[in-house]
Amino acid sequence: MKENRVLEDGHGRRFYYLRLSVTDVCNFRCDYCLPDGYQASPKQPDLSVAEATTVMRAFAQLGTRKVRLTGGEPSLRKDLPQLIQAAKATPGIRRVALTSNGYKLPSAIDTWHHAGLDQLNISIDSLDPSEFAHITGHDCLPKILTGIDRALELGVQTKVNAVLLSDGAHDRLKQFLAWLKTTPVTLRFIELMQTGDNRDYFASNHLRGAEIEQLLIETGWQLLPRAIDAGPAREYVHPNYAGRIGLITPYSKDFCSSCNRLRISAQGKLHLCLFSDAGIDLRHAIRDGDANALAESVRTMIGNKEVSHYLQQGNTGGTENLSIIGG
Ligand code: SAM
Repeated sequence: MKENRVLEDGHGRRFYYLRLSVTDVCNFRCDYCLPDGYQASPKQPDLSVAEATTVMRAFAQLGTRKVRLTGGEPSLRKDLPQLIQAAKATPGIRRVALTSNGYKLPSAIDTWHHAGLDQLNISIDSLDPSEFAHITGHDCLPKILTGIDRALELGVQTKVNAVLLSDGAHDRLKQFLAWLKTTPVTLRFIELMQTGDNRDYFASNHLRGAEIEQLLIETGWQLLPRAIDAGPAREYVHPNYAGRIGLITPYSKDFCSSCNRLRISAQGKLHLCLFSDAGIDLRHAIRDGDANALAESVRTMIGNKEVSHYLQQGNTGGTENLSIIGG
């Protein structure tokens, strides 16, 4: 593998982590993301396994060590095991992660594990089955929890993403805490982010992560020291709990200073930020299959990465919802 120096932007941030969206299609209808379900529109086919391989080889040359496959819902792709395998086989990639809604988890986790999956993030906003069904449009929480048990049995490092929503937040926190007593997962509370499509929902449901963080600190949760190349999550542990809690608070000051990731959409666009104005179309270069040339293009473009998003000002860039790029 041709190894260049690690990709670094004009603000001294280094990028070790690629989020690769493999589809924008999703089967869930989460209130804050796709409340009316996925709406098909004319587009090119999603990146093929060969194209995704070119992308991962290019990023590995630029110092990427971790790839997360995301979407949309990545498990809707029949060739997801081949995508995992391709990521695992890319020289330089040390960890392969997947973000999923867990709908297919019980039937698929053994195959994903066999294909080389190291880390799994499953989205569960509530442990109350009827509330879960209300938020997502799918009454399948027990099935997803069975799948998580199996992932843990297989030794797959497992995290659960929960979007913080103001109404009922304290009841949900209580349920999550009871679960974490004995379940060795990391629960990540993600502050609800405003997107182009969810302005009203955001205005009535946004809850500051700092409020939950304060409660955790008051009840004995302790902040873990950050690794130098860690992303923006802050992680807490407690001696009486098997699980951990992480907080992702994009509205907090300096959130972007620890940004360590770049995104490629399923259409082959480079997104320098989740909330940039538009993606940079790299599909031609990806299709050519020349990972060296692609890497050089990305290195040139990194100079355009801005110091921060502008979410605090209500500017969501070109991001209508997170299913398009992958959260
Ligand atoms: N379908 C997969 C899933 O459900 O995890 C992957 C894609 S989904 C866009 C990735 C993550 O983004 C999920 O945890 C989801 O809850 C979160 N998400 C979506 N829209 C969001 C928003 N507006 N604010 C915060 N998190 C959001």
